[in-house]
Amino acid sequence: MEKTLVIIKPSAIRRDLIGEIIHRFERKGLQLSGLKMMQLDNKLLDEHYQHLKDRSFFQRIKNSMMQTPVIVCCWKGIDSVQVARTMTGCTNGRNAAMGTIRGDYSVSIQENIVHTSDSVENAQIEIKRFFNEDEIFEFDQLQSDVLYACDEI
Ligand code: ADP
Repeated sequence: MEKTLVIIKPSAIRRDLIGEIIHRFERKGLQLSGLKMMQLDNKLLDEHYQHLKDRSFFQRIKNSMMQTPVIVCCWKGIDSVQVARTMTGCTNGRNAAMGTIRGDYSVSIQENIVHTSDSVENAQIEIKRFFNEDEIFEFDQLQSDVLYACDEI
């Protein structure tokens, strides 16, 4: 089953939204496969945000991501990358649809509460970037028969 990476950013940590964010993914039906708190550093963020390295806000977004430790989570489910992206909403919290995490909790382009992987390929790279192999857990989800039809699994 597909896995995706979610980072609960300092903008959420500082506003005590950790439980709220995790609750949403859990209630949706994604399975938590990995979870930890970590302090990001400049080197890891250079890698993670390399696609933004020529943008004027590159150092600013890295500084923002180092303000507090973050929570990194790995969520598993059918099409979990797309499911988590849809739940996250578009980058600018002011434009994100109500009902999405950014739409409900953010009024900023930068301080937008969560990162979620944008493709299956990037999810695999990002999970390896933030987790050691033994920090990702495979176990039976007792509810899978009520989450999916038998031909979906
Ligand atoms: P997303 O997180 O929606 O996939 P990007 O990968 O384009 O978006 O950008 C990564 C992060 O950089 C965003 O989530 C946001 O925190 C920040 N960011 C993006 N665009 C801007 C901008 N114009 N000004 C400030 N911060 C930005």
